[in-house]
Amino acid sequence: MENKIIGIDLGGTRLRMGAVGLDNQMAAPFVTKSSIVAEAEKPIEKLCEIIADYQEKNNLKNVQAISIGVPSSVMRDKETVICTTNIRNKKGEPVFCHTNLAADIRKYFQIPAFVNNDVNNILLYDIAAHHLEEKKVVVGIYIGTGVGSSVVIDGKPLEGKDGAQLDLGHIPYFMGDTPCSCGKTGCCECYASGWKLQKLREEFYPDTKICDMFTLHKDEKPLKEFIRACAHVYALMATIFNPDTMIVGGGVPEMAGFPRADFERLVNENTGRDVMAYGFDYLYSQEYVGKGVIGAALFARSRL
Ligand SMILES: [Zn+2]
Repeated sequence: MENKIIGIDLGGTRLRMGAVGLDNQMAAPFVTKSSIVAEAEKPIEKLCEIIADYQEKNNLKNVQAISIGVPSSVMRDKETVICTTNIRNKKGEPVFCHTNLAADIRKYFQIPAFVNNDVNNILLYDIAAHHLEEKKVVVGIYIGTGVGSSVVIDGKPLEGKDGAQLDLGHIPYFMGDTPCSCGKTGCCECYASGWKLQKLREEFYPDTKICDMFTLHKDEKPLKEFIRACAHVYALMATIFNPDTMIVGGGVPEMAGFPRADFERLVNENTGRDVMAYGFDYLYSQEYVGKGVIGAALFARSRL
């Protein structure tokens, strides 16, 4: 294979890699455990070895770039990982903290290397997959274990001063008193996340498998409140951004039986009236393991 971009999605649990061409399809999919990198003595060197091995086994020639998505904010240089709180080494410390990951990879392979936030990459994938490139404002909110968000305005991802923007999972829910993993209390992630869904399962439905939570219990009070909490996150963002399209994704909305009609009604009811006078489209992100890999490649291509 020639002229591909190597896209990598380095998640909390799995590292996925693929070779992506101009057709935006993922060839030679590869998956391994993130812990192999996280627990290595020299994590960046280990990552480079895995990439080199992948490149050789798949006979990849003239690779155009290597692009990595990480579950962390990334500085505006698109090289430096701010802090991977959910990728930790054996001592329990975050593996990459203010680490320039791209510089070492570029040095090793002598080709362009980029690092971007994983949710940012997934939104780029969803925009390409659904041909939303011409839209003015696209908001993506992805509820998985935590809450991730990315916003693209006039084709450009919204960036804060340092790259730490849209830390939506830690937006405060008024009067919330549940302690959050970040050290604050009452963050939205404490009420609208896969973590919370798991807590509800343990408390109210210990005999239900997590994947059946919506199909079996969506009309009962704990799940109704949960859906309301999720809807508030979307309503908040819709009110701020007046989007063309609101992308709903992540492990929670992608579960079987997620009550889309109830959810959308709650979002609409809670969104500011001026925004609702114009409305917006809902688009549901589909479950697909290649999203982060292809999104990483799309990001690299936008920078080459
Ligand atoms: Zn928090």
